[in-house]
Amino acid sequence: MNYQVPLLIDGQWRDSSSQEWLDITNPADESSIGRVAKASRADLDAALAAAQTGFAAWRKTSVMERSAYLRKAAALVREHAEEMALMLVHEQGKRLTEARIELSGASEVLEWFAEEARRCYGSMIPPRSPELRQYVQHEPVGPVAAFTPWNFPINQAVRKIAAALAAGCSIIVKGSEETPVALARFIQVLEQAGLPAGVLGLVYGVPGDISEHLIASPVVRKISFTGSTSVGKLLSAQAGAAMKRMSMELGGHAPAIVCDDADLARSLKLLGVQKFWNAGQACISPSRFLVQAPLYDEAIAGFQRIAEGYVMGNGLDKATRMGPLANPRRVAAMQALVDDAVAKGARVVTGGKAPDGKGYFFAPTVLADVPQDARIFNEEPFGPIAAFARFDSDAQALQEANRLPWGLAAYVFTGSATRGEWFKNGIESGLVGINSIAMGYPEQPFGGVKDSGYASEGGADALAFYLSSKFVSQTI
Ligand code: NAD
Repeated sequence: MNYQVPLLIDGQWRDSSSQEWLDITNPADESSIGRVAKASRADLDAALAAAQTGFAAWRKTSVMERSAYLRKAAALVREHAEEMALMLVHEQGKRLTEARIELSGASEVLEWFAEEARRCYGSMIPPRSPELRQYVQHEPVGPVAAFTPWNFPINQAVRKIAAALAAGCSIIVKGSEETPVALARFIQVLEQAGLPAGVLGLVYGVPGDISEHLIASPVVRKISFTGSTSVGKLLSAQAGAAMKRMSMELGGHAPAIVCDDADLARSLKLLGVQKFWNAGQACISPSRFLVQAPLYDEAIAGFQRIAEGYVMGNGLDKATRMGPLANPRRVAAMQALVDDAVAKGARVVTGGKAPDGKGYFFAPTVLADVPQDARIFNEEPFGPIAAFARFDSDAQALQEANRLPWGLAAYVFTGSATRGEWFKNGIESGLVGINSIAMGYPEQPFGGVKDSGYASEGGADALAFYLSSKFVSQTI
């Protein structure tokens, strides 16, 4: 395998004007699988100029044209899905099944926004005098700069691309340099559905240099970022200084509260799926397992069995239930979190270390009796570790759930509708699962509160973040 990933600027796939490249690595075996073009300042300026002309053309298209385009794009993505799924496994490490689901999800997102484009309603406002007509119309906010990470290279990008295109915006995407291959192919497929040049651009390079340059440019009118809270705050500050609209989908540290009246087997089964999906590298992955005292020991034993069933391996192997982590930083981070927890009194029930051999693997891990001051209970783990602590009262569980600055996803398992309702109302979180892990589908809102960011990337609200409102007061 020797992928060569160019940049997309003004409808042309081209190498960097500086002829610089960055290496791409397969996390399953650490082999080099190709290289990605590293955009120069001149490339970024060309991408900005193209986004401006692309916007001038795309904003004039009718909602029916944009809707038809997005439906066609969804169909083309389905046609080429298997090729892109394989690329995702090669560069990111996830299981082929997970990669296929990421691709089918991408088509669904495109279809959702194809329909939302047609529902971009304005509103009439009753005037104060009969000779006036007053109304609100929505307009595309302008060229968008989107920054997307390596955990779901296509899923994180398509939510931004589809919303921007549905609204009539042009968009420059900066994907992750570590996982550029499938996203570039995806964007090529989107282009083939018939976009004017400049409407969609793709750049890679030094993340900080690119974001600083694009955010400061007067061409860009909106920023959308998915990634860590620390980088989100940095980009928010840059965007704030330039008065740019923002959507921030940042980290989380999801509490999973298991009450003493829960169906334990079902709760653990669902939590296992959610925990080890994408090797735990998901912002909605449950990461603080809070179990009520009477079920605590049984829950740990049950989750140990689940974790030990997750066979690690190359995402292409049929027997694999969990792939490697996406990069060596995550392996080092997992080890540091385990070591810190153990030093503070936690117990490794299973896993807790990286296996010998090639690849960025880390064993599915269960930690018991994790004290509140352990780093893993205070920093987003973003990996395959389930950290357990016990609680006595519901009030104590809720307090722990809300203790951290994040508020993206939270899970509650209980046999009581009243308790479920009480937790749901008290939890500070953008997404709440009550005996459920079903979240992240295009028709559902997706976004956090507090340090997890703001704006929603799904559901009926999502388009609004790519639109501005114009109030019109007209004498007739
Ligand atoms: P990181 O914080 O350096 O990078 C996170 C992402 O942001 C990467 O894709 C990176 O390319 C990008 N990035 C970094 N600096 C940037 C900048 N100045 N401008 C634009 N983009 C920039 O760390 P990392 O090691 O890649 O990931 C570690 C942490 O990031 C994880 O622990 C997790 O908390 C978070 N993360 C969150 C998500 C998510 O879905 N919310 C996805 C990936 C990573």
